[in-house]
Amino acid sequence: MTEAIQRTLVVLKPDAVQRGIAGELITRFERRGLRLAALRLVQVERALAEQHYAVHAGKFFYPDLVKTISASPVVAIVLEGPNAIPVVRAMVGATRPHEAAAGTIRGDYALVGLRNLIHASDAPETAAAEVALWFPEGVVSYTRDVERWMTDEGAPA
Ligand code: GDP
Repeated sequence: MTEAIQRTLVVLKPDAVQRGIAGELITRFERRGLRLAALRLVQVERALAEQHYAVHAGKFFYPDLVKTISASPVVAIVLEGPNAIPVVRAMVGATRPHEAAAGTIRGDYALVGLRNLIHASDAPETAAAEVALWFPEGVVSYTRDVERWMTDEGAPA
């Protein structure tokens, strides 16, 4: 069976950059086999924060959410690979870190919801909208030689 190649947006939030674990988190995705398609250090403006979290507008935690993601630079990343959206969500773990399984990023590194380190797109429609919002200039298309050892491409030979 050939798995669908997807693109997903990941944001390593200010707490990840401040704690100096951005590289460590990127390494997890690289080890899994996902390909970097775009990467940028961003000081998030209020307008981008509000657009990114528009789905939460009106909720009690929305003002904190906007403030928290604009407090310090973030690393915005587009990851690509077979089933990248659910694969990355599973690696990130539950929203509330005390419910996140050990072995997930939040389960291994985080304690509370507003310091849960990372955002990842949750569905194909949101992924497409978020990639366009954070990378209006587009992403970089390329392949790696190792791809055929990690994906259906070239298998089973
Ligand atoms: P995610 O996709 O797992 O990041 O979760 P959501 O998209 O539902 O929420 C976005 C972010 O809002 C989460 O990562 C949390 O930082 C925060 N958040 C979500 N729910 C709550 C809540 O009930 N209380 C607070 N304080 N923050 C929340």
